[in-house]
Amino acid sequence: MTHIITSLCLRDSGCVEVCPVECIVPGKPIEEWPWYYIDPDTCIDCGACIPECPYEAIFPEDEVPSAYTAKGGEYISKVGLTGHYEGVNHHGEPVVLDCVRQLEPGEVVDLTPDIQPNYDYFSKGPGYKALEM
Ligand code: SF4
Ligand code: SF4
Repeated sequence: MTHIITSLCLRDSGCVEVCPVECIVPGKPIEEWPWYYIDPDTCIDCGACIPECPYEAIFPEDEVPSAYTAKGGEYISKVGLTGHYEGVNHHGEPVVLDCVRQLEPGEVVDLTPDIQPNYDYFSKGPGYKALEM
């Protein structure tokens, strides 16, 4: 199994530093890969990244919710969405995303389609290069 970063990720980057096997990388280019991604072949399922995420975006693969109930106000980011987000990451650096949507309180979202991009980033995306950097 592996842990999975979902579309609730707002590129805070706090999870990267705690991962003992350094398998979390920022998606690039950001327009095509807006989250951070976990390399499923390297992740050892230690769970250290979960409490580091301020947006509660990380789940064990078999616990990614198919019916996530929004608190309201949180963002999901996906290619094709057109909302604008500006914030700062764990290091105080600016984060700007133009592919977001803010969730309504009580809105139910299926996050399981977010599993596959974690695999894709390392199999057919630029993830391999990112891990070598
Ligand atoms: S800490 Fe959360 S928001 Fe930040 S990069 Fe990791 S998964 Fe994304
Ligand atoms: S579960 Fe552990 S090994 Fe897997 S990405 Fe998170 S910190 Fe890294």
